[in-house]
Amino acid sequence: MQNLLDFDSIGLHAWFAAQGEKPFRARQVLRWIHRYGESNFTAMTDLAKSLREKLLSSAAVVPPRLISDRYSEDGTRKFLLDVGGGNAVETVFIPEEGRGTLCVSTQAGCALECSFCATGKQGFSRNLGIAEIVGQLWLAERALKAPAVEAGCAGGKEPDRAISNVVLMGMGEPLANFDNSVAAVRLMLDDNAYGLSRRRVTISTSGLVPAIDRLREECPVALAVSLHAPNDALRDELVPINRKYPLAALLAACNRYLEKAPRDFVTFEYVMIDGVNDSDAHARQLLAIAKEVSCKFNLIPFNPFHGSKYRRSRSERVVRFAEILLSGGVVTTTRKTRGDDIAAACGQLAGQVSARTRGHLGRERRGEEGSAPVSACHAFDISEVDA
Ligand code: SAH
Ligand code: SF4
Repeated sequence: MQNLLDFDSIGLHAWFAAQGEKPFRARQVLRWIHRYGESNFTAMTDLAKSLREKLLSSAAVVPPRLISDRYSEDGTRKFLLDVGGGNAVETVFIPEEGRGTLCVSTQAGCALECSFCATGKQGFSRNLGIAEIVGQLWLAERALKAPAVEAGCAGGKEPDRAISNVVLMGMGEPLANFDNSVAAVRLMLDDNAYGLSRRRVTISTSGLVPAIDRLREECPVALAVSLHAPNDALRDELVPINRKYPLAALLAACNRYLEKAPRDFVTFEYVMIDGVNDSDAHARQLLAIAKEVSCKFNLIPFNPFHGSKYRRSRSERVVRFAEILLSGGVVTTTRKTRGDDIAAACGQLAGQVSARTRGHLGRERRGEEGSAPVSACHAFDISEVDA
């Protein structure tokens, strides 16, 4: 059985051609699947009956299996998905005034071992496939907008989208799973699929310089870079990939990227860790960086997780830090931590069924609350990256 969620538009057209079908049939099916959220070929009424029968016997639309779907008091909604082999990943929906943002995972675990990140601490399991990445959007859109799917199919009108923005900021490093992340992003941008503008899809990276250059050529979308430190010595410690691609190389890559980016700034994410990277001097060093790259800053109060050695900066410290950046003329926002009560905040996502998290998955299945926050997407106020 071919999973049709595993194809971007080009792949689907190629598969249809191999079946002896015309390109417009591929387009029709693409629209049914992604625009209308339809998985049942029998309901794809404008396809020839013979094609529907062929699809029924040779293909399927298979998103990752939903383990749990939980609401936070602040409206954040977290989907926990089984991606096989004992791995789970998370997708977080963050509703805001006039916008709905979905935070999507791209890997089960992460190999980059940032010292403040629960996902990094759990290690790398595997890359997610296209179906597992775009399937998060497919599932969430369906879950959020089930009645509109019906209306869209029945009346032929366009469904209202619940999700207006997507950020690849969940578990994993999207640029370390480049091909699958970009194929999924292409579907997000495709007018026959989700039709999002490049400005409304954001890729967040810890700073894989060659991949930033490749993204610039192949699929430039909004870019967020996890900076977290204003100098190499500290960044080497917090974001170890900095030892391979130090700040000067990263900032140069950001500038190259901006030549083709849909926005004229990069968003620098900066996790605020008590006594580690949150002093006035650090903020002043960031001002020098902001002179080199057109950027906005997004301060993220550190989200603690079980076994982490860091503490969140005090809120007065975060305010003072933001003031220094703002008074230096740098647009700075502070991320509201959301989804705390369902462990869906930044860097708390850790869905691998390791010795520690096995209990988590078990608890999720039983619908109980875990004692330690163990999830990996980034539920926050991301207005500044996706406005
Ligand atoms: N791997 C990519 C995308 C996923 S991480 C990246 O690193 O950019 C998404 C964001 O959450 C990053 O900015 C990351 O640094 C941040 N983050 C990770 N752990 C965190 C924690 N414990 N508290 C707050 N933010 C965290
Ligand atoms: Fe990986 Fe991003 Fe976590 Fe670093 S912050 S370990 S790159 S998911």
